[in-house]
Amino acid sequence: MDGTYDVIIIGAGPAGLTAGLYTSRSKLSTLIIEKETLGGELVNRDLIENYPGYPDGILGPELSGNMLNQAMNYGTEFQLGEVEQIKIDGNRKVVQTSSGEYSGKAIIIAGGAHNKKLAVPGEQEFADKGVFYCATCDGPHFADKVVAVAGGGDSGITEGIFLTRLVSKVIIIEMLPQCTATKILQDRAFSNPKIEVKCGSKIEAIIGDEQVKALDLLNIQTGERSTLEVDGILVHIGIEPNTDYLSGTVPLDSKGYVLVNEKMETEIPGVFAAGDIRLNSAWQIATAVGDGATAALSLVKYLGSLPG
Ligand SMILES: Cc1cc2nc3c(=O)[nH]c(=O)nc-3n(C[C@H](O)[C@H](O)[C@H](O)COP(=O)(O)OP(=O)(O)OC[C@H]3O[C@@H](n4cnc5c(N)ncnc54)[C@H](O)[C@@H]3O)c2cc1C
Repeated sequence: MDGTYDVIIIGAGPAGLTAGLYTSRSKLSTLIIEKETLGGELVNRDLIENYPGYPDGILGPELSGNMLNQAMNYGTEFQLGEVEQIKIDGNRKVVQTSSGEYSGKAIIIAGGAHNKKLAVPGEQEFADKGVFYCATCDGPHFADKVVAVAGGGDSGITEGIFLTRLVSKVIIIEMLPQCTATKILQDRAFSNPKIEVKCGSKIEAIIGDEQVKALDLLNIQTGERSTLEVDGILVHIGIEPNTDYLSGTVPLDSKGYVLVNEKMETEIPGVFAAGDIRLNSAWQIATAVGDGATAALSLVKYLGSLPG
């Protein structure tokens, strides 16, 4: 056993760092375990324009650095390592990681989620140069431009409809012969004059120079290839929570999101979840921060209720 803490937090993104700040300020010994980069998704973001308190926006690494320093200032400890398993032994929770084993009286799971990638040439090259994954975050950069949305499921169509408020035209591209979004969403999309839907088209490559300029498409039925000129592409073919290691231990929904109530409590006493990893998250920094604070406050109450 490498260490025993009051609280163990999995993931050093905005949710985990906020939770750590709150539990440390409550004088609970707190360890955050992070498998990649302290700061979570924020570290890879350029300018964040929708996090309150920064009228001119703030760079992702600066915001995450501030959150990290604030948690550290109150005594939060950090350990790099990937959590591979958690074991619940009554009031004792054991966390097994690639760098050792830790135990705590309570756990906050704040491991976030990841966007499924298209995995085509150009996707990585043009990331933040026209390829984007979050309509709310990056849509405003495409005012009056033509944007493709990869994905005709519920999330792709919802995001496409949202984008029509900002851009001049949205082209939804779905590989299957038909969109898979619920009928009501499809009706809304089809009746929106700014939306064109292309089903049965596979995106084979994203092309451009400094910025995205076009997509190479393959018509699945006819085998015909074509080039579609666009200024950007929102990839929304699904988001997956980082919960593989939790299945069988913590209640998850059918897509793998952690089930919590409004206090961020799971069904297991002393196990909480916060941020993008939990069911019905809004996938925003501000909401992840709110979840982290809520989970921590619920946890403080939970530990206070334990006998002696
Ligand atoms: C391209 C893009 C742009 C975005 N832009 C914005 C924006 O402008 N504004 C906005 O509000 N939101 C934006 N978001 C969303 C925002 O980044 C997330 O909502 C937010 O980071 C979620 O915080 P979190 O703490 O829940 O998860 P994350 O930030 O994902 O942090 C989770 C952390 O947990 C770690 N982890 C996962 N599994 C394990 C494990 N087994 N062991 C140890 N560590 C683990 C991960 O490595 C990660 O560091 C954007 C997202 C993307 C993808």
